[in-house]
Amino acid sequence: MGVRPYQYLAYKGEIRGVEVLKENEWNSSKTCSACGDDTKSNRKQRGLYVCSSCGLVGNADCNGVENMRQKITPSPHGEDRSNGRVAQPSIHLFDSESGVFAPREQVVL
Ligand SMILES: [Zn+2]
Repeated sequence: MGVRPYQYLAYKGEIRGVEVLKENEWNSSKTCSACGDDTKSNRKQRGLYVCSSCGLVGNADCNGVENMRQKITPSPHGEDRSNGRVAQPSIHLFDSESGVFAPREQVVL
């Protein structure tokens, strides 16, 4: 029997001193993470999310994950939500037409 993703993340978190919390993804994908608009048609084809209220264009999964993050660790507007740890910078080439990220090889700096 293999290790389930949550168990793996909990294990890694414990090693690094990071608390790993579970959150239900139900209904997280249709709500705009920037303004809270929950118009169902905001979720376009494939991975594209376009908010009809504020104009946010993003990857639908990333928008959903941000909604889950806000539920677990709410951050008041205008306040720095940094936890003091420095993440490794990464660059993703996001196609706002299709809503998908390009493979890493296609990202040119
Ligand atoms: Zn919005």
